[in-house]
Amino acid sequence: MCNSVSTGSRSEPTIDTPNTDKGRPLTLRPEERKLLWEVVMELAREGLVAGSNGNASMRLDDDTLLITPTGSSYRALTPEDLLIIDMDGGPVEGEGIPSSETALHLAIYQARSDAGAVIHTHSPYATIAAVAALDIPPLVDEVVYKVGGSIPVADYAFPSTEELASNVVGALGEVNAVLLRNHGLVGLGRNPWDAFDLCQLVERLAHTFIYATLLGRANPIPPEYVDLEQELFRMKRRASIT
Ligand SMILES: [Zn+2]
Repeated sequence: MCNSVSTGSRSEPTIDTPNTDKGRPLTLRPEERKLLWEVVMELAREGLVAGSNGNASMRLDDDTLLITPTGSSYRALTPEDLLIIDMDGGPVEGEGIPSSETALHLAIYQARSDAGAVIHTHSPYATIAAVAALDIPPLVDEVVYKVGGSIPVADYAFPSTEELASNVVGALGEVNAVLLRNHGLVGLGRNPWDAFDLCQLVERLAHTFIYATLLGRANPIPPEYVDLEQELFRMKRRASIT
């Protein structure tokens, strides 16, 4: 079981003081609200999400998670806008409607006890690979260590549906990232910054994959080294669960 999740806090990036003009005081979990908000702001700055697309969440304890609201522009988002919900999607604290992809987030937390945070992006290069329905092979070592191997493509389903959540969990297995066909990317991590780093890494890998494919030479790592790196990945994952 997963109890409180490490925050993985960073001294960077420098951020503006949150806008608390809405007059709603932070009540439950103010530190986690600020942490997830900082990660979401960095996702927007890095171009991994834009407008109001994409979404992010973090596990608070066995019974609750913190998640971004639906339809809210990142430009206007504040920590108070984030919503605490239970593992059935029911409201615990906050005004507004949870992310339209809440079912996807809940399904991943239920399937993966090592997931402390989940991020869904529409980042450009990952989306190109998702549109082409191409699994991204293990092209560079750090991806195998951090993602667990090839990045699979989940079968298409209409956004925000239970079918999409089911397809993603089915494709996920034990790796930490999945491409959503004709849609985008979802990645998980031990904490929000871990999930951020993973989504950024996958976006860079997708960029590499597409250019190497255009050159006609997207050569994967030799299989025996992939096996070795996957064993290291599994050891790390087991250590994070226990
Ligand atoms: Zn989406």
